[in-house]
Amino acid sequence: MTIVKPVAAGLKQAVIPGLTRNPSPAVLQASGLTKRFTEGRLDVTVLQGVDLTVHAGDTLAIVGASGSGKSTLLHLMGGLDAPTSGTVELQGQRLSQLSAAEQGVLRNRSLGFVYQFHHLLPEFSALDNVAMPLWIRRMARTESAQVATKMLAQVGLQERLQHRPAELSGGERQRVAIARALVTQPACVLADEPTGNLDRNTANGVFELMLQLARDQGTAFVVVTHDAALAARCSRQLRLVQGRLSESA
Ligand code: ADP
Ligand code: MG
Repeated sequence: MTIVKPVAAGLKQAVIPGLTRNPSPAVLQASGLTKRFTEGRLDVTVLQGVDLTVHAGDTLAIVGASGSGKSTLLHLMGGLDAPTSGTVELQGQRLSQLSAAEQGVLRNRSLGFVYQFHHLLPEFSALDNVAMPLWIRRMARTESAQVATKMLAQVGLQERLQHRPAELSGGERQRVAIARALVTQPACVLADEPTGNLDRNTANGVFELMLQLARDQGTAFVVVTHDAALAARCSRQLRLVQGRLSESA
């Protein structure tokens, strides 16, 4: 017997009755998030009660000084770290009520991640880097190559399929990283300074691409950026100051 859609099957098991009552839950919802790091001599409270709701197709910019907790917030929203208190709901499911395995399945299905440094695997082609999340879902090689090729074409890299990361420009590498984040058609992409390492023109192009994909595919984007001009192009701008998030006009 062949394995049919193991991820979908796994997610079914992950659905906890009673948590899916809302017919159109927010894609991602954080309530009363706090985060305190206490390790050895360290005792830092980074987030002090953050509420944030992300709906389908939202483009949301988070700005704030270095060290203000932007990456920490994204990690909590993505289930990569647990809050000290407060809750995160992804697609209507409270992360803290799922096992680590269930969280992993839900994350693989619902979220994409883009980082400041592309984190592509250097030994693999652009095509294989983008196909990798599909391999994790156990999609067959030929099908995953087709889907990844299409995704790379959407970010304008149809001529770069066999290039390795070192053979691509900085902007092209980030486009590959965006294609990799989007290839599973997630409901939301969490991007941590995705253009922070690019020159202004390239950053503009990469950012515009994200906004266009949000429009075309209904994917929500939560983007941490230092760049006020780029942030202004998002549907909402939020500022993180002293552990609190507020709407910034
Ligand atoms: P930003 O992304 O806004 O620059 P971060 O979220 O990376 O800020 O970090 C916020 C604060 O939390 C910093 O003071 C940082 O030193 C601290 N911090 C982040 N991660 C940890 C950790 N794992 N242990 C201890 N302190 C941490
Ligand atoms: Mg950061």
